[in-house]
Amino acid sequence: MKYWDKRMETLPRAGIEALQLERLRATVSRALLTPFYKPLLEKAGVTGPESICSLADISKLPFTSKNDLRDAYPFGLLSCPRAELVRLHASSGTTGTPTVIYQTRADLDRWTDFLARSVTAPGAGPEDVFQNMITYGLFTGGLGMHYGAERAGMLVIPAGPGNVGRQLMLMKDFGTTTVHATPSFMLHLQSKMADEGVARSSLSLKRAYCGAEPYSEDTRRKIESMLGIDVYNSYGLSEMNGPGLAFECSFKDGMHVWEDGFLLEVIDPDTGLPVPDGERGELVFTILCRDAMPILRYRTHDLSSVIPGDCPCGRTHRRIARIMGRTDDMLIVNGVNVFPSQVEEVLMRMPEVGTNWLIVVEKEGSLDRLTVKTEVQPNMFADDSRPLNALRDRVREKLQASITIGARVELHEPGSLPISEGKAKRVLDTRPKL
Ligand code: ADP
Ligand code: ZN
Repeated sequence: MKYWDKRMETLPRAGIEALQLERLRATVSRALLTPFYKPLLEKAGVTGPESICSLADISKLPFTSKNDLRDAYPFGLLSCPRAELVRLHASSGTTGTPTVIYQTRADLDRWTDFLARSVTAPGAGPEDVFQNMITYGLFTGGLGMHYGAERAGMLVIPAGPGNVGRQLMLMKDFGTTTVHATPSFMLHLQSKMADEGVARSSLSLKRAYCGAEPYSEDTRRKIESMLGIDVYNSYGLSEMNGPGLAFECSFKDGMHVWEDGFLLEVIDPDTGLPVPDGERGELVFTILCRDAMPILRYRTHDLSSVIPGDCPCGRTHRRIARIMGRTDDMLIVNGVNVFPSQVEEVLMRMPEVGTNWLIVVEKEGSLDRLTVKTEVQPNMFADDSRPLNALRDRVREKLQASITIGARVELHEPGSLPISEGKAKRVLDTRPKL
C-alpha cells in the first residue's frame, strides 16, 4: 500500500476529530475577520472559538452558497492582508460574476500536499510520467494537479486539454503512465486512436484520474476496458481549493475525503439537517486549513452519500460515493460549469434578441455539445443576411466570454421556438442519464 503521509492518512478517528475541532475553531476565528462572515456569525451568537465546543456545534454556523461568494466578490471573504496572497483561481458564478478563491503561500503548500496524497493513493509515484490533460489557467484542475503530481515526484507533462494527436505523441514519446482528464475526453481520445494510427501497445498508459464532471460506473468500466487501464475518481470544487478534496485509493470503492483539511456534512437539502451514513444527501464542506479565505458550510448542491465501514487500504478518512446528481440547474459541459442564468444574462442584455430561448446539450461522439437557440426581433430577418450573421457572431462571442466555452448559436424568427405552458423550459439535455 502506497501512502504519501501515512501517519495522517491512517490517523485513528479520535485523532482526526480532535484535529478537526481545533482547526474548526481556528477557522471560525479567521471567519470573524472577514466583512462577509462577521455580521452573520455575530447574529448567530458565535463570538469566537469559545463558541465551538464540539464538532456538533458546527450547526451554529451559517451555510454559504455560491451566490454569497458572488456577492462578496472580489475581496469580501479575505481574512489576511492582500500582500500575503500568492494565487487566485476562479470558477463560474451563477451569472457573469465569477467566484474567486485566494491562496497564501502556506495555503498553496497545504493544497499541494492534499494533491500529492491524492495522486499517490492509487499507487503512482516518482517512477511515473503524469500527463495533465486538463485546462490550465483560472480553473483549479490544471495548476492544482500539476503541482501535486510534481510534489509526489512524478515527471509532469503540462499538456493541457484538446489536440488528441499531440496528446498521443506525448504519451508515446515520453512513456506517459498516468493521465488526468475528464472522462469524456478519455472516451474521445480512445475513439481517435485508430485514426491517429496509434496502437494501444505503443503506449505505457496504466491509469487515468478522471473528474470535473459526473460519470457513471459504466463509463468508468468502458474507459478501463477499452484502454486496458485503471480509472480513479477525483472530486473537488474551487471553493474547497479544487481537486484534492476527495480521491479514490487503489480499491476504487468511493473517494476518501481528506478530513484533516475538510469537514464533511451530508444534509437533507430541504431541511438542512444531517442524514445518516449510507443515505443520499447534499454534500456540505467547511475548509479547515486555508488562511486567505475561510469558507464555512459550503453547499455544493452535489448529491452523494457516505460509504459506511472501513476501507481495506487502511485509510481512516471517510469515503463518499460517486456524485449522483445535483440539486440545482447547473450544467456541466465537457467539465465546465454552466448556469442557465449566465446564458440568460448575456441574451437579455442584447436588444436585438427576443424573449424566448433554449439551451440544448447533446452528445457529439464522446464530447458534449452546447447550442443556444434564441428568437430575435422580426426586423433582423431582412433580405440582407449580414446583420443577422453579425448578431450571431456577437452572441457567440459574448457567450464565450461569460461561460468560457464555445457554444453554437442559432437565431430564430419570433414565435418559432416551442413555448412551454407554465414554467418555461430553458434546458434540453439529451445526454444519456447516468
Ligand atoms: P472543476 O474545475 O472541477 O469543474 P468547479 O469548482 O468549477 O471545479 O466545479 C466543481 C463541480 O464539478 C462540483 O461541484 C461537481 O458538481 C463537479 N465535479 C467535480 N468533480 C466531479 C466528479 N468526480 N464527479 C462528478 N462531478 C464532479
Ligand atoms: Zn481506501
